[in-house]
Amino acid sequence: MRRAEARRLAELSDEARQQAVLDYLEAAEPGTRRSLIAFASKCWSSDPFQGGAYAYFKVGQMTTLPSVLARPEGRLHFAGDHTSHRPGFMHGALAAAERVVEEIVLADHAAPGGARVRVK
Ligand SMILES: Cc1cc2nc3c(=O)[nH]c(=O)nc-3n(C[C@H](O)[C@H](O)[C@H](O)COP(=O)(O)OP(=O)(O)OC[C@H]3O[C@@H](n4cnc5c(N)ncnc54)[C@H](O)[C@@H]3O)c2cc1C
Repeated sequence: MRRAEARRLAELSDEARQQAVLDYLEAAEPGTRRSLIAFASKCWSSDPFQGGAYAYFKVGQMTTLPSVLARPEGRLHFAGDHTSHRPGFMHGALAAAERVVEEIVLADHAAPGGARVRVK
């Protein structure tokens, strides 16, 4: 979502925001409104405590930094969107989390007397 669109939505009431979002989704994916179970929204720009930021790599860093940032240091493993193929986005954070779980399970299996971690 672009900044101007996000600002416009943030200024709406919860009800009006739900309506606007569902109008948008219904146009893109007819039937969405009918399938709705619950709706919640969070407007970061209206939250005085968020103060958040996200990784935004410069040209050239995308191909060099994430693999270095993701490298384990002994028993320490590093997740976070900045260690993923998609820094600055939720799906990057989830991909990094999955990678770290896999790293820990593999490291555990490789350790003497390993396989203490069980994955169902
Ligand atoms: C304003 C804003 C808007 C965004 N909008 C979008 C969007 O529309 N779509 C999208 O895909 N992404 C968006 N993002 C990016 C997305 O939020 C992040 O990519 C994602 O949350 C990163 O997840 P993470 O698990 O890597 O890190 P985080 O979500 O930052 O989680 C790290 C956690 O570690 C905790 N922590 C830090 N230090 C310590 C410590 N020493 N000990 C214990 N805990 C600690 C922190 O409190 C935090 O809970 C947005 C980010 C911001 C700031």
